[in-house]
Amino acid sequence: SQIMSRGLPKQKPIEGVKQVIVVASGKGGVGKSTTAVNLALALAANELSKAVGLLDVDVYGPSIPKMMNLKGNPELSQSNLMRPLLNYGIACMSMGFLVEETAPLVWRGLMVMSAIEKLLRQVDWGQLDYLVVDMPPGTGDVQLSVSQNIPISGAVIVSTPQDIALMDAHRGAEMFRKVHVPVLGLVQNMSVFQCPKCKHKTHIFGADGARRLARTLDLDILGDIPLHLNIREASDTGQPIVFSQPESDEAKAYLRIATEVV
Ligand code: ADP
Repeated sequence: SQIMSRGLPKQKPIEGVKQVIVVASGKGGVGKSTTAVNLALALAANELSKAVGLLDVDVYGPSIPKMMNLKGNPELSQSNLMRPLLNYGIACMSMGFLVEETAPLVWRGLMVMSAIEKLLRQVDWGQLDYLVVDMPPGTGDVQLSVSQNIPISGAVIVSTPQDIALMDAHRGAEMFRKVHVPVLGLVQNMSVFQCPKCKHKTHIFGADGARRLARTLDLDILGDIPLHLNIREASDTGQPIVFSQPESDEAKAYLRIATEVV
């Protein structure tokens, strides 16, 4: 793409932010945003007690406002930077705060890039140990420009164990390698569903596809998150599981990912 052929531009850190972790996926709907939100909460939880921000650059389908139960317009600081909105101890910024909820995001490439620029450079994060970035799915210009504009400590790639998702996750991992972003590992999401009545386990999208991909790419599996009603309900009601049910096995699975990441 154009951005690639320009070579690696200068990277400038985001002021006040020590480490940037991007959460990416090859395909939509595999649980990338759910992972980003719960990873952010897990990093901030008592066990790790990090100062954490969450940046939603999924400009076409921002889901952080709903998942974090936030809406409204960011205030401006004295130096005209946007102040993140706060909930559950996490500082959040999303395109969803800047446009109407139901406004169609029909944008030309340049507008997307200026929105990304705004989200990367015009936010007053204060002091953060970690900024978790929820990327759009795929390997397009947004992913590339984020990777090339700010120094990224590492990428977490989320996939279901389904072949099509894995193929796209593979492509995502290769993209990060090309732009010299270390891939921290894969999160296998929705690998198993356990019937709450009979306890029978079903591998709806396959059993361990992400594990096989991790072996192929010589990457770690950072976590294995089951397909669980509580995770979906918690996200949809804006009370992510790591916040609302921290003692659950599902929340603990996210906490383990956070421990792997720090
Ligand atoms: P993406 O960001 O990859 O598009 P989302 O995180 O928005 O995916 O997840 C898609 C849908 O699947 C959401 O409704 C979310 O609540 C649900 N979901 C994600 N992970 C799980 C899981 N492990 N168990 C149950 N539902 C999940």
